[in-house]
Amino acid sequence: MSHTNELQLIENQGWDERILVCRNGRLVDTFIVVTGRFVVLVDTVINPQTAAQMLEYARPYLTNGRQLLVINTHADYDHCWGNQLFVGDTAPSTGSGQAVHPAPIIGSHLSPPKFQQPEAKTYLAKMQQLEPEVFGEVVLTPPTLLIQDRFVIAGGDLTLELLPTPGHTDDHYSVFIPEIGTLLAADAAELPYPMARTPDGLPPMRESLAKLAALPAETVLYCHAPVTSGRQLLLDNIAYFNAIEAACRAALARGIAPNLSEDVDVLALVDCAWETAVPDAPEWHNVHDYYKTGGHASQILAMLQWLAQEV
Ligand SMILES: [Zn+2]
Repeated sequence: MSHTNELQLIENQGWDERILVCRNGRLVDTFIVVTGRFVVLVDTVINPQTAAQMLEYARPYLTNGRQLLVINTHADYDHCWGNQLFVGDTAPSTGSGQAVHPAPIIGSHLSPPKFQQPEAKTYLAKMQQLEPEVFGEVVLTPPTLLIQDRFVIAGGDLTLELLPTPGHTDDHYSVFIPEIGTLLAADAAELPYPMARTPDGLPPMRESLAKLAALPAETVLYCHAPVTSGRQLLLDNIAYFNAIEAACRAALARGIAPNLSEDVDVLALVDCAWETAVPDAPEWHNVHDYYKTGGHASQILAMLQWLAQEV
């Protein structure tokens, strides 16, 4: 997939005016929340260029003593590779780098080690080689204010409740704003579905979906779903995993082995075609074929592995 340095502001489609939605091509949406005390960037997009654009959208609101705060919902590249704009390089030996706009970056205590992993550095190097004009300037920069549980930002008029919602990744947070019944679910739910990084992530991911669906949220915005998806997408994601669980349980009861290899026709063996697990609506028919075939099969394989461990 190729990336773009463009970031556009999405026209308000009925959500509270204090929330701005930024879109980076077809990849990801990020958010700016303007409160009485703080302007909060929820994620920093894919690189310093897109983060700078986000900062430009936020700048007009940095008035009346409002401070800039940054949140990383999790440490995937499309959510935090613009972090360097907000954190100065303090190492005396290398240290020339000043933050463009210093601000604390709030993120899970589980995130920083992910920036140190050799895989993260290899992945960045690969992306820099493939698309130097997009990723050439990225410096991996972990969050600086580390949180472990629920964390509250008292913005004055608006309260941001940062809720741990592990599953997609173990460091994932969503943001609930009770005064306006608004949930920024990030990647805890997606169209067509969130992906757990490992089979172990599947149960917490479903718990997180249930936790978010129980919130009194009228407006729900996601990083990878249309802004019109609403609360219904949480319920559709829950129903999807329930449907594949039922199909997997039935298949195991028929005697299929839980450790199917990737090359067998998983969907036929488990009898769980894509259409039977999702709503009968255009946005579900129109998802990329991968999600209906390979991606859907991966979810089923993860479910089978989890159910096999359960006993
Ligand atoms: Zn993402």
